Amino acid sequence: MSDLTLKQRFIASLERKDVDKVPVCSVTQTGTVELMEMTGAKWPDAHYDPEKMATLAIAAHEITGLEAVRYPFCNTVMPETLGCTVREGSLDSQPQIIDFPCKEKKDVAGLLVPDNLLESKRIKTILQATDIVKDRLSDEVPIVVGILGPAAIACCLCGVNNYLMWCITAPEVLKELLVLGTSVCKEYANALFDRGVDAVVIIDSEAGPDLFPPPLFQSMILPFYRSLTKDMRGPTILHICGDATEILDDMADSGFQGLSIEEKVNLAYANQVVAGRACLVGNISPVFTLLERSPEQVKKEAKECIADGVGILSPGCGIAPHTSIENIRAFVAARDEYYGLG
Ligand SMILES: [Zn+2]
Repeated sequence: MSDLTLKQRFIASLERKDVDKVPVCSVTQTGTVELMEMTGAKWPDAHYDPEKMATLAIAAHEITGLEAVRYPFCNTVMPETLGCTVREGSLDSQPQIIDFPCKEKKDVAGLLVPDNLLESKRIKTILQATDIVKDRLSDEVPIVVGILGPAAIACCLCGVNNYLMWCITAPEVLKELLVLGTSVCKEYANALFDRGVDAVVIIDSEAGPDLFPPPLFQSMILPFYRSLTKDMRGPTILHICGDATEILDDMADSGFQGLSIEEKVNLAYANQVVAGRACLVGNISPVFTLLERSPEQVKKEAKECIADGVGILSPGCGIAPHTSIENIRAFVAARDEYYGLG
């Protein structure tokens, strides 16, 4: 079993098969300032230029040892495609949404989805980056792409205040946005799979308890997740930020192979709840641990995640841009040490 390639180990882990050791990677953003300086592929250009996007994503694998290539580095691809206005960010800050199209309920019906979604500028950039990554990378390394999920897309399109209000006062309007989000998600994810991406991460924190009322998750979100996972033609991971403990049971029934959770979720408890229905991905803190603590402390917490039964060792959320390469390497080394390979 030790002759598994990184890709075989990653996919086998998602399928909850026995592996020789857990993979260690990030299923969330991997761009850091140090990597940008070393490669010249810097933010904000690396969000918009496929060549730079591919270069920075591959560097995060080759230079730090993380066992997947993961891009893009922001969550604005679909929102901008669907009509949000985005500020491009800087070397160490991600692009931000500064305006959105659905100010009022009546705006939802008039929302225009581009006819040729896959030809739109930002999505095309990701598809082109995929071609470049495939060309430059060994076929043995998994390629992971993050895209926003239906709740996140809905929230971006109507703004967080409307989103919070409409889920109580106008659920039918919010559902229209969720229908749209689900449909664009399927089309985009399947285009990625067709290009050879190995796993798609659906980033959908706006469906999590930090924003969305957990009692409504089952009726309003779960059906969309089931529809998504039924129609997406490849392995998928659901990432929800914050403390997702309350909805874990439903998340495990949503059809995603992997569930990516933050450090606020107790991993040992999560394993009991999920009970083999999905592969748990996580969950050391990207900020309090990976960014701010020493390599030794990073190792200690990473080994605790493995001991608690994580399926894929990963930061609980996006890597902070000022995280040191040294700490990311320690994160990878912790996995080897755990298995007596260090
Ligand atoms: Zn997150």
